[in-house]
Amino acid sequence: MVSRRDLLRTMIAGGVVAATQPTIAVASAVGDTGVRDFITKSKNFNMTFTDDIILRGGQYRLLKQVTNRLSKIQSLVGYANFALLNFDAAIQYAAKYSSVGAFTNSEKDFLEQIFYTNAHDYGFFGEKILTRLTDGIPSRDVKKVRGTGHFIYKGDSQRLYNKIRKDVGNTIILTSGIRGVVKQMYLFLSKALGAGGNLSKAARSLAPPGHSFHGVGDFDVGKRGYGYRNFTADFSNTVEFKRLKELGYVKIRYPEENPFGVRYEPWHIKVVKI
Ligand SMILES: [Zn+2]
Repeated sequence: MVSRRDLLRTMIAGGVVAATQPTIAVASAVGDTGVRDFITKSKNFNMTFTDDIILRGGQYRLLKQVTNRLSKIQSLVGYANFALLNFDAAIQYAAKYSSVGAFTNSEKDFLEQIFYTNAHDYGFFGEKILTRLTDGIPSRDVKKVRGTGHFIYKGDSQRLYNKIRKDVGNTIILTSGIRGVVKQMYLFLSKALGAGGNLSKAARSLAPPGHSFHGVGDFDVGKRGYGYRNFTADFSNTVEFKRLKELGYVKIRYPEENPFGVRYEPWHIKVVKI
């Protein structure tokens, strides 16, 4: 495992600094064991901690530029299609359409650096599932779910989703399906940008690109008409969630106090065979 100090060395000089303020001193709150550390962090996922990794200066500018370009690609290809887009296609779209504009070499290097940095450095301890930046989603394996703007994998994911709908009712809906590397990169960088360049804070809410099980079959569900609250702890108070819990076959990927450094996500369904 690459230490945080190694990451700081490998990142472009002057671009990255540790958090300044406001911060929580984890050690004084709960003691200084590593396990408690990251449980405290994932419970307080929206706080800033002293050892968070935050992009500054040139790296922060690259974060902004790249996020902006990815957003334009999403507008160009459409929300649903963007979720399946692979990295090479994204680079080609950008170069071809002046409304997006080609990625510069520094921007491409930045994307590589984000993808290949050991996510443990951000405090994320889930496994890496899609290991290459250029990994894609085979279009023959996916099915668009009508009325949701999302795709789902044929086979186990589709069967599981249909069974959940049958058992809970049609007030439960797909809120996020398959997400390829580019989509996850975009979500992760947008989250980091919203957090002032804080990659660690972003990683407490969202798997870094390559680490999301949305790439291989997991999906999110929510209550119809519940909006953004479907992605908050409020979802666990809905009738739909209570029904989900009663179904023996539904597994939540990131339960409370999970060992991955990720906040509690009652809406994120782990793909299982049924
Ligand atoms: Zn999810």
